Amino acid sequence: KEQTLGIIKPDGLLSNYTDKIKNVILDSGFVIRNEVSLQLDEDSVRTFYAEHSSKSFFNSLITYMTSGPVLVMILEKENAVADWRALIGPTDARKAKITHPHSIRAMCRTNSEKNCVHGSDSPQSAQREISFFFKEKSAA
Ligand code: ATP
Repeated sequence: KEQTLGIIKPDGLLSNYTDKIKNVILDSGFVIRNEVSLQLDEDSVRTFYAEHSSKSFFNSLITYMTSGPVLVMILEKENAVADWRALIGPTDARKAKITHPHSIRAMCRTNSEKNCVHGSDSPQSAQREISFFFKEKSAA
């Protein structure tokens, strides 16, 4: 089965959305194959989000992602990458509330930066991101 990387970001953990988010994950047919809670440092956020390094919001993204611990998960099911992206909803949590009211980002509902979860955007990103956080791909 396919695997993707999910992250509950600092605002998700701080606001105690963790259990709600995990319930949605399990109810949607994902298996949480592996998980680790960790505090990211600036260097790891820079590397993880390297594709955004030229964006105006990059420094604030680093501050946000290092503001508290995150929960990193390997999520597994058929079509995991696309299904997890659909489940989390659009980047801007305020818009998500209107256009995708049942999405996870609508549930946490803050703004385009503090959107409480991350999901790999393609199978290639998923592989890169899983090996960024976990030594090897978990056995299926
Ligand atoms: P992610 O990659 O975290 O799953 P995404 O693919 O929906 O989110 P990206 O465009 O890849 O969104 O942006 C990565 C992250 O950068 C966003 O999740 C958000 O935290 C932050 N971000 C994106 N756009 C903005 C913005 N305009 N202002 C502030 N932060 C932003």
